[in-house]
Amino acid sequence: MRALRRFTVRASLPEPLTPLGMLATNLRWTWHPPTQDLFASVDPDVWERVGGDPLRLLAEVSAERLEKLARDENFLSRTRAVADDLRRYLTAPRWYQRRQDELAHRPSAGSRLPASIAYFSMEFGVTEALPNYSGGLGVLAGDHLKAASDLGVPLVGVGLLYRSGYFRQSLSADGWQVEHYPVIDPSGLPLELLTEPSGAPILVHVAMPAGRVLRARIWKAQVGRIPLLLLDSDVPENDEDLRGVTDRLYGGDQDHRIRQEILAGVGGVRAVRTYCELTGHPQPEVFHTNEGHAGFLGLERIRELVTTDGLDFDEALAAVRAGTVFTTHTPVPAGIDRFPVDLVQHYFGHGELLPGIPVQRVLALGAEDNPGLFNMANMGLRLAQRANGVSKLHGRVSREMFRGLWPGFDTDEVPIGSVTNGVHGPTWAAREISKLIGEPDVDGPVGLRGMEPVSDALLWELRCGLRARLVEEVRRRVRAAWRQRGASDLELGWTDSVFDPDVLTIGFARRVPTYKRLTLMLRNPDRLRALLLDPKRPIQVVVAGKSHPADDGGKALIQQIVRFADDPEVRARIAFLPDYDMQLARYLYWGCDVWLNNPLRPLEACGTSGMKAALNGGLNLSIRDGWWDEFFDGGNGWAIPTADGVSDANRRDDLEAAALYDLIATQVAPLFYDRGEDGVPARWMAMVRHTLATLGPGVQAGRMVREYVDSYYAPAAASAEAVRADGYQGAKQLAEFRARVRAAWPRVRVVDSDLSAGGASPPLLGAPVTVRAQVDLAGLDPSDVDVQAVVGKVAESGELHDVVTTSMAEDGHGGYAVELPLPHAGSLGYTVRVLPQHGLLATPAELGKVVLAG
Ligand SMILES: *Cc1c(COP(=O)(O)O)cnc(C)c1O
Repeated sequence: MRALRRFTVRASLPEPLTPLGMLATNLRWTWHPPTQDLFASVDPDVWERVGGDPLRLLAEVSAERLEKLARDENFLSRTRAVADDLRRYLTAPRWYQRRQDELAHRPSAGSRLPASIAYFSMEFGVTEALPNYSGGLGVLAGDHLKAASDLGVPLVGVGLLYRSGYFRQSLSADGWQVEHYPVIDPSGLPLELLTEPSGAPILVHVAMPAGRVLRARIWKAQVGRIPLLLLDSDVPENDEDLRGVTDRLYGGDQDHRIRQEILAGVGGVRAVRTYCELTGHPQPEVFHTNEGHAGFLGLERIRELVTTDGLDFDEALAAVRAGTVFTTHTPVPAGIDRFPVDLVQHYFGHGELLPGIPVQRVLALGAEDNPGLFNMANMGLRLAQRANGVSKLHGRVSREMFRGLWPGFDTDEVPIGSVTNGVHGPTWAAREISKLIGEPDVDGPVGLRGMEPVSDALLWELRCGLRARLVEEVRRRVRAAWRQRGASDLELGWTDSVFDPDVLTIGFARRVPTYKRLTLMLRNPDRLRALLLDPKRPIQVVVAGKSHPADDGGKALIQQIVRFADDPEVRARIAFLPDYDMQLARYLYWGCDVWLNNPLRPLEACGTSGMKAALNGGLNLSIRDGWWDEFFDGGNGWAIPTADGVSDANRRDDLEAAALYDLIATQVAPLFYDRGEDGVPARWMAMVRHTLATLGPGVQAGRMVREYVDSYYAPAAASAEAVRADGYQGAKQLAEFRARVRAAWPRVRVVDSDLSAGGASPPLLGAPVTVRAQVDLAGLDPSDVDVQAVVGKVAESGELHDVVTTSMAEDGHGGYAVELPLPHAGSLGYTVRVLPQHGLLATPAELGKVVLAG
């Protein structure tokens, strides 16, 4: 019999054990070993069976056992100690509060930390016990919340709760990916429903076309100090099709997707408002849009200001932009979310969804080169005064990719910065590692304590232990996967000895879009086979990853790997493990000696799995893309040479695969197997040590969140305050300024300019020169513009580069002049340009307006 419906009954705990309830529902347990140990000791067998999930443990452990523990003084005092520790963690001032104090004593610093920040994301990977993510983006969002919690940053997370999350993966007999969608039961998850005093769920309303309404209830997960609000449309009040809006993550068509994004953005803002009113939590001053998907949040905030504060659209836009931060994660143009304009028109055109907001203004925000498409990334950038990519290289790629939105500016002036992603150490570092070398001090300046006293032998022993644990897990999973594919136990004896705890272990796990090149290692199967079966220095390779359900190309790549690994000749040395998720990921990051990454440069925005491996002493073997481009230092791993510029994709793959095989054969494996008398590979351990010491601090999510606070949240809060003061005077002035500039700009011109050098001819490096210009401001006030002299080297093409820009002084009659030293020797050139200037702009390029001489 199949159940019609699943529901979970929460165990009622004997009174002395009530603190266990709080410890189980606050997800801090996911990164706090003492809490995990406490739960494990409730019933080690059940703990094992439920995969280390405290709520399921409490639901399944026997009443007798609980009664016994309620009388066990030793257990009770441990429980009290852990609960007290959590209470302290939740209330004591942390880094953010100290920072606030510092700034309060230094008001001249000009920035003030926001009382609250809302962080919107379509997926959150906090723990496998709350399967609400598909991969890197979600796990990053989860790590962002956890690090914010550790630092005391007052963030509120906002997203959707999916009935089936992302799919679970298994394999058919012939190696084809099969998807399953287990249905979750929110009442059995670490979630709390936001309710009216009557106990009825609070519902967020979002208007749909034809007079319909999409309703969603709000679940709250507590991630340490951070509330995470998740909207869920599966309520009886909704029409059947609308109940399904939050059924699956990345599972439907465009129409399904836009409904999800409308709910996350528009409904998400309404959910935060409700939550803050209900709990007294401060309303957010800054809104962080994690990738374009959640971008509709800016439209709802514009509507709020238009409806309740009486601002017009442009004033509201100026106010919203000031407090919005947008992070882009996609260097692949095809990866950007785009909707047909008609679809956006369908949802926003009927006037009920966002009353008072003209749909033409909405459409203009998402406009792109193709007039039929609405571009969520463009909207994200137009709705945010501050934007960033997720590694230095990705920042550069993004400036190039989006430069069309700032015509006339050099790529490096495009106002998109970067904050390199990080990973949450306590979540991803093996306990043994944290214990041995000390956790990085997430609450203070980062840095690993006490690496020196740890001997190579001890560290090696620890690494071998982690590898052995991975090998056990590989055996277990290989056996389970074969059973699933229809094999009988009788033919699976060989799985007991797949992989070898003493062999150099290389890991490769990630989603399977083409650019990640899952099958690059198969480019020359004979070479791979030779490396796996090398009699003296063998390697073993563990592979995992999911393909998007609609991507048959990706599934075919997985099948190629599976078929290769099925070959009895090599199957003891290479395995594809189905169902890559956070749990499997941890075994891989802990146990792999080498973490392989071979994307097509520069299409990996950042990549974070290599960071997690590094935290455990794994060495990266990677194309210099994303984070590795800035963190590789020659001693912490290997850079696979890239055939940049080779346009034939096949040839490029051949070249890069050959380089990969060579690196493994001539450097990686020899180093790993070069043992001293004591069996320890000293030179290998030197690299491990160097990796732990130098990468450990830099790859932490704590470092990332501190950067967001200092470089994005604090300035955004200051801007938001500046536009809000005195009844939104700043927003009104800024909107009026934009309108004035827009009207005058087509007529602004540099009428005349020249550069004169006194003294030696040709002038000498550093000699003073004077640049003069006559500018027609078309009625703008001189204070509305910045007229700049630009001097730099000239390329053959006449393009200026390596420029120095200097503001020119006005003489009261439209004349401008400045004296400056010549910045370079050789062939130089200059020009003059005019930019809008206003105290509330974050960067001179912000409005995308510039007039160049000539
Ligand atoms: C870290 C992580 C990812 C992201 O890895 P990339 O290197 O960015 O591809 C994906 N899935 C899981 C389960 C992870 O833990």
